[in-house]
Amino acid sequence: MLKKLLLGVLFISSSISAQDYFYKKFHPFDSNVPSPEEFLGYGIGERHTRHDLIVSYFTKLSEVSDRANLYEYGKTHEGRKLIMLTVTTPENLKNIDGLKTQHLKFTDPAQNPSNYDEVPIFVNLAYNVHGNEPSSSEAALLTAYTLVASNNPEILNYLKNGVMFIDPTINPDGRDRHTQWANMYQGNPLVADPQDAEHNEYWPMGRTNHYWFDLNRDWLLGIHPESRGKLKWYHEWYPNVVTDFHEMGSQSSYFFEPMKDNGSLNPIMPKENYVDLNNLFGDYYAEALDSIGSFYFTKEVFDGTYPGYGSSYPDLQGGLGLLFEQASSRGHKQTTAFGEITFPFTIRNQYTSSITTVKAAVENKAYLRKYQQKFFKSGLDNASKSRIKGYTFKDGKDANRVKAFVDKLLLHKIDVYKSGGGFVVPTKQPQYRMVQTMFETYEKYRDSVYYDASAWSLANFYNMKYKPTTSLDFGEKVTSLEGLVKTTPVQKTAYAYIIDYNDYNAVAALNHLQSNGLVISSSSKPFTAKTGEGNKNFGYGALVIPVSLQEKNENQVFELVQQAREKYHVPIYAVNSGYNVEGIDLGSRWISPLRTPKAAMLIGDGVRSYEAGEVWHLLDTRVHMPITKIPIRNFGRADFDKYNTLVMVSGSYNFTKKQQEKLKAWVSKGNTLITIGSATKWIIDKKIVSEKLTKSEEKDSTSIVERKPYVNAPENIGKESVGGAIFKVDLDITHPLAFGYTDDTIPVYKNNSVWLAPSKNEYATVAKYAKDPHIDGFITKKNMEENLKPSASLVVSKLGSGRVVLFADNPNFRGSWYGTNRLFLNAIFLGDKIRIPE
Ligand SMILES: [Zn+2]
Repeated sequence: MLKKLLLGVLFISSSISAQDYFYKKFHPFDSNVPSPEEFLGYGIGERHTRHDLIVSYFTKLSEVSDRANLYEYGKTHEGRKLIMLTVTTPENLKNIDGLKTQHLKFTDPAQNPSNYDEVPIFVNLAYNVHGNEPSSSEAALLTAYTLVASNNPEILNYLKNGVMFIDPTINPDGRDRHTQWANMYQGNPLVADPQDAEHNEYWPMGRTNHYWFDLNRDWLLGIHPESRGKLKWYHEWYPNVVTDFHEMGSQSSYFFEPMKDNGSLNPIMPKENYVDLNNLFGDYYAEALDSIGSFYFTKEVFDGTYPGYGSSYPDLQGGLGLLFEQASSRGHKQTTAFGEITFPFTIRNQYTSSITTVKAAVENKAYLRKYQQKFFKSGLDNASKSRIKGYTFKDGKDANRVKAFVDKLLLHKIDVYKSGGGFVVPTKQPQYRMVQTMFETYEKYRDSVYYDASAWSLANFYNMKYKPTTSLDFGEKVTSLEGLVKTTPVQKTAYAYIIDYNDYNAVAALNHLQSNGLVISSSSKPFTAKTGEGNKNFGYGALVIPVSLQEKNENQVFELVQQAREKYHVPIYAVNSGYNVEGIDLGSRWISPLRTPKAAMLIGDGVRSYEAGEVWHLLDTRVHMPITKIPIRNFGRADFDKYNTLVMVSGSYNFTKKQQEKLKAWVSKGNTLITIGSATKWIIDKKIVSEKLTKSEEKDSTSIVERKPYVNAPENIGKESVGGAIFKVDLDITHPLAFGYTDDTIPVYKNNSVWLAPSKNEYATVAKYAKDPHIDGFITKKNMEENLKPSASLVVSKLGSGRVVLFADNPNFRGSWYGTNRLFLNAIFLGDKIRIPE
């Protein structure tokens, strides 16, 4: 016992000095508060810390100290806790609700508080949105320890004048994937060779969350529990300053804001944000990093144009969002052209920026408060000056898609009202800038190279037909999603049930019924049936459930149909006769049984994990249909006869000739292959289908090229890539792939250079870019005229008795394209309905 105790003491005292590498200047520390090292049993930087240990340490801090409170704001897909540690003086903490009330007055344009200096500043220190950028969560442990345990006058001053909300891991699922990787390959002694396994994670790597989504794009889209939990917290506290810590490639130094200028010509953010505030804070970081001898750069790269980053969303809420990028040691130590980068070195830079952020926030407390107050007031002022008084939208035929869009508006605290059978979003509201973000589109840009998307008008993602309005005519305010979708109970019938296929959830209902053993037919022509609720028009794709043709009895069928309605809120009607009022009858050959899909998707090295994750997420969370994820390394030996549908998302598929033949033979048997983006290009290049890519004018090799300055190369080349923009397509709504759509033009998202030529077959081009296709986002004139305008977005190609569905554009982008992912679901569920006339 004594021996053990002695060893413990020795261990602690010897390594405290090692940990002084990080926080020497903040002594003395309260000895009742364990340091991260004492708690974990290893020094910060010696290993990668698992998320559950981070949670345990933060829990411990909240237990031993009256400076800290722990709050759980959600759980990840894999069930990991999402936590926030509030740290301030014990007095502030006791009065936190009172401080919050005072703070929120500055975000309410209807109030005029002027006690800018009296309320402590709210700082949200947020870390590790990208799981394999691990230095930041380790820095979060050190930052929390410093703020909770240090009795240094400098820190005591920060606590008195600030409330720090520490979110150590925004993406715990991804972090733990990488943590496991880095720890399991750690050598002793450490191996700095960049070719070592420790520095080369395997697919899908740790950047993304459970479904391989980039959470640093999800702040606007709000698809995942990580962001939804955080957004809910955010709109309760409106912090003045928010950090977003990242790592970049190893061959670099350190980056802090100011960023590159905003790419939009008239950004909706006040210039004061990205000019004055960023420069003010930039001076602090420069001074702090200079003092520890670290190198850095600013302004050259990264833009905050897209409002869904962790460093740009806060800017739209009157706060200051701050991006930090540390050159990664990706592992514990790595050799680079600039010398060796160690994990502790990367952690120290992030820790230094963390404490410096608190310092800058506290020292500019009144300014930041005034700024936030001005921000929300100017939002209302701008709205008053706008000719547009609101945006109206409705879609009477697809209540569940409308509901999903309203959910997004409410998530961002945008006011929505019922109006004339639809909805209206007035512009005159404190969240005016978010209203602009959702509905406004852009045509003019100051920049041509984007770090990410150049279009984000969310109304278009949801295929909402919306209109600006100059009149104000509201009904009731929408405060929850409850009751937005109304369906009447189904009556029991011995004849047939019909499901309206226009509803977004019809596919989930179809899956529920098919997976429970019912045979469902789909109608290829519209008809009007006499239902229990009167005569009812059904469009293309209406689902028909003939009762007497099922193996299950009348009661069992009724039970399943009721379940489908209750679970998915889709309109289902009972009919007692097959003799229709108009159009085809229920026994028509145009109404034929659907094959139940058995779907698989190729995943693994070379496959674009984002797109694969989007497919997986869509089927899991919206349709509740399992999809088999086949590692691509097993392609040769996998038995594909178990499936009738295969998905290949963008990626580089280095198949041998024999493997290509295997794929071709499988499709030819009558199966459906769905390709997206570069997989579409690949399947055409390999001549597996006889479709073509759009040929742009080939340059005459003898013509003289214009000589350009070398330094401009990245910019010139960068602008020809399509970073992400929204275009209009003409849709053939009589085609099975477009069943359920009622408008023959819809917006699609394009972020690649796959230019698909329309098919030679007159019936096989399902979606073609419209004559005047631009809706939102940046594209060069050359790309628009030579590539986009002549091309198709969606084509089907016959192969033997099977078919290949070729998507040039990703219909499932970031889990939020409700407007186009229906096309993808149709390819899965209605694929074998496509009979292409020769
Ligand atoms: Zn990152």
